Amino acid sequence: MRITISPQRLSSEFVRKVEEISGQTLPSCYQCGKCSAGCPLSFAMDLLPNQIIRLVQLGLEEDIANSKTIWLCASCLTCSVRCPRGVDLAKVMEALRLLTLRKNVNYVEPSRIPQEVLAELPQLALVSGFRKFTA
Ligand code: SF4
Ligand code: SF4
Repeated sequence: MRITISPQRLSSEFVRKVEEISGQTLPSCYQCGKCSAGCPLSFAMDLLPNQIIRLVQLGLEEDIANSKTIWLCASCLTCSVRCPRGVDLAKVMEALRLLTLRKNVNYVEPSRIPQEVLAELPQLALVSGFRKFTA
């Protein structure tokens, strides 16, 4: 994924909000990559977890919004346990999802899920899926 950095795109307000919601000190991350090396979903992500936190540090909200990574994160906490700087990256991912959903944006549109898929999915999957992906 190609990222272009310009002063106009840097949002310190976005950084402040992510820190407030996640309770994490973002500058603590020094980009060692241990989080991404252990993430079981990294194979499917277009940006790795350490790249996401770098974009948050820079306030590049738009680039995070264009990535699927925060929605693929399974909140397994592997990254949080592995971080040598004590950054709970799973909480940062959750904060990023919350900030997106607060804009009343549904990542999944329930009415567009095909009937045959709805018939197959267990209720629990639907409930947890809607909780994670809809505003
Ligand atoms: S493991 Fe921690 S310090 Fe290393 S890149 Fe990930 S968040 Fe940053
Ligand atoms: S919490 Fe998310 S980002 Fe962290 S290791 Fe698990 S799936 Fe990957």
